[in-house]
Amino acid sequence: MGNSTINTVDVLGCAQEVIARCKKLAAFSEDLSGTTRLFLCPAMREVHREISAWMKSLGVEVRTDAAGNLRGLYPGERGNAPALLIGSHLDTVPNAGAYDGVLGVAMAIALLQALQGQKLPFGIEVIGFSEEEGVRFGTPFIGSRALVGRLDEALLDRRDRQGISVREAIEDFGLDSAEIAQAALTSNVLGYLEFHIEQGPVLESLGLPLGVVESIAGQSRVEFTFSGQSNHAGTTPMNLRRDALAAAAEWVVAVEKLGQNTPGLVATVGAIEAKPGAANVVAGETRVTLDVRHGSDSAREQAVRELMRQAEAISSHRSLQVRHKILLEQKSVAMDPLLAGEIEKAIQKTGCKPHRMVSGAGHDAMVLAEKVPAAMVFLRTPGGISHDPAESVAVEDVAKAIECGLHLLNQLASNFARN
Ligand SMILES: [Zn+2]
Repeated sequence: MGNSTINTVDVLGCAQEVIARCKKLAAFSEDLSGTTRLFLCPAMREVHREISAWMKSLGVEVRTDAAGNLRGLYPGERGNAPALLIGSHLDTVPNAGAYDGVLGVAMAIALLQALQGQKLPFGIEVIGFSEEEGVRFGTPFIGSRALVGRLDEALLDRRDRQGISVREAIEDFGLDSAEIAQAALTSNVLGYLEFHIEQGPVLESLGLPLGVVESIAGQSRVEFTFSGQSNHAGTTPMNLRRDALAAAAEWVVAVEKLGQNTPGLVATVGAIEAKPGAANVVAGETRVTLDVRHGSDSAREQAVRELMRQAEAISSHRSLQVRHKILLEQKSVAMDPLLAGEIEKAIQKTGCKPHRMVSGAGHDAMVLAEKVPAAMVFLRTPGGISHDPAESVAVEDVAKAIECGLHLLNQLASNFARN
């Protein structure tokens, strides 16, 4: 495969088809008004049928593994060739847009289509993960966890709000949960590539269509409870109050300041609850959430420690107590530097400037990275809007992504031939 292949492909036409396909899949939903598609819901069956038809027309062998992942293998030049995995997730959040996840699968198929039957020294396995968002069972990555062999008994026993377990959902879909071990990756995998919308405003603010993900940010979630004394709002003078809500408010502003003043850090207080919660009562207790993310684990840990210190200082100054509970500590995951470097080169070949970035959101690629070299390409997200029906992507940006994908396959093919 040479650049000639790329030259003969109508990338803009391919991009238009990718967008039309994403829109078509968005109509397969659990509710009529929008797009909601949770793990192995009936609408997922229709999505599988549709995507399978697209792949079969390209001579791709399609199967659904026991974790509900849709997998299509486009064979390499030789029967025993290793495979490059390309994919993303097919589930959505409630009232979702048309591109989060699905775009990565439609992109993979567009690349196969653009190969026009040409075989590479490696195969390409297209994967549509059954679950990534964590909506139905309150825990994400069910699909990709099966590939790395972490879809364990505890996860299979988890139940949704209707009391249906992951295992039962798998059986209800007509799959055999006893075969989950066979969904795991074999050693014959070259790597994992995921195209995904950025879901943020960074690429748009830089005027760039594509980004290379260097790492996926680590995350800390901590709950803080400030305790003072609830009292009468009319009779308690200001200097004699121990107001837990005012203390929390002072700290919330400190969280924002630290986020603003620390490069690469995002720090958010997304929820607050004051007790007893009445207009005429000084709050005696206030509970606040904290979400801190950074590409560097030490920078994130340092920020959390600093915010704990500030919570203590604010509380002691106001004669209050504060306690905290750590809810989540997730380390950052580096993408494969070689694969990311190849993506960077491929983006340059499309005439665009590749922007290296940290993903603030979690993705299947971070699970796959446990076992295989993994990398991601981000596409500019208009208005930075995602997880909303207004989510969109520009056809020209999808065309650039297809071009980038073809250059990348070309590069990997020649690297493969050299090694
Ligand atoms: Zn996604």
